[in-house]
Amino acid sequence: MAKEPVYKEVVDEVYRILWPKKLKLFTAGPVACFPEVLETMSFQMLSHRSKEYRELHRDTVERLEDFLEARKGIVMLFPSSGTGIMEASIRNAVTPSGKVLVTIIGAFGKRYREVVESNGRKAIVLEKKPGEPVLPEELDEALKKNPDVEAVTITYNETSTGVLNPLKELAKVAKEHDKMVFVDAVSAMGAADIKFDEWSLDIVFASSQKAFGVPPGLAIGAFSEEVFEKAKKIPNRGWYFDLLLYRKYQEQQWSTPSTPPIPQIAALNAVLRIIERMGGKYKWLKMYQERAEKIRKGVIDLGLELFAKPGYYSPTITVVKTPPGIKGVEVYEEMRKRGFEIAKGYGPVKEYTFRIGHMGYITDEDIKELFDNLREVINELMKKK
Ligand SMILES: *Cc1c(COP(=O)(O)O)cnc(C)c1O
Repeated sequence: MAKEPVYKEVVDEVYRILWPKKLKLFTAGPVACFPEVLETMSFQMLSHRSKEYRELHRDTVERLEDFLEARKGIVMLFPSSGTGIMEASIRNAVTPSGKVLVTIIGAFGKRYREVVESNGRKAIVLEKKPGEPVLPEELDEALKKNPDVEAVTITYNETSTGVLNPLKELAKVAKEHDKMVFVDAVSAMGAADIKFDEWSLDIVFASSQKAFGVPPGLAIGAFSEEVFEKAKKIPNRGWYFDLLLYRKYQEQQWSTPSTPPIPQIAALNAVLRIIERMGGKYKWLKMYQERAEKIRKGVIDLGLELFAKPGYYSPTITVVKTPPGIKGVEVYEEMRKRGFEIAKGYGPVKEYTFRIGHMGYITDEDIKELFDNLREVINELMKKK
């Protein structure tokens, strides 16, 4: 096997397509990766049926079970983005003609509704105005009115509006009504606390490219025993996302039915080891909390307003209202010219917001530079108006 690349220039050619300039990322995902992650991923491949791969798979799953406090629950890895598990939750754990209470506080709650309906199930919707969370008493009321739903879906962190739902309290209400709880934690897992067993969650899923700061292509799911029991009774679960098949492969050989994204799993394993070195889960979550506070303070110091309702601010993304007359996309474009990739507004609030992602590899220096530039950009745009 060649040790040195022969056609070295092709790497630069590809870089010129993807990275015409090196941008600093404050994105909603994919996010900037840790240097350790990038190095871990540049190794030679091996078979996903090898002894070595199985050891990596086992170690990663066990570290995730610790991180999610899922000792009764089972964590599994999927060769897809997080939305794959969104679909799996409906196909495996809701009867074909069954009803689901879908809570919507933004674009990703809407996606869950589409996934429910496109899989032939019925969605009962509890929708809040953009910027607001779902409150426990509202969920309680909706469940009283709809006692026949089988499950409740909750977006833990709504990436389009920058709102963190009160998941623990919402799950408690759902359990009082004896409903299964499916959580889209795609932009929350790794930054907002999840106590899978204690909060009695049934399905929680995320993607590698958000708060864990790993490239895209890997989905992480945690499942309660009840989900597998239910799945046994559901026909036509499909093959690619059949949870019973995944469990069989994991239990028999610490692997997946089809080929997993091995580099991403190795990278996630590296991040879980970084978390351990940093002092464990709660130290790591605190790092995210402090980063989020610093970014919110930066926004306020510029005289701008946060979009989310106070008390429900996201630890992973800050949605900012633009000053009157300025469009979110103008701020985005001007920041790009200065070497920063922030996130455009998304979904219903697209026009008059922009978003600053806090996930992945971001240093204090990066944050300072971001705000120095953002201040100038806002001032320039205001002058033009
Ligand atoms: C990014 C995101 C998704 C979509 O994740 P994919 O990895 O693209 O499938 C779903 N929900 C939320 C809350 C997200 O932030």
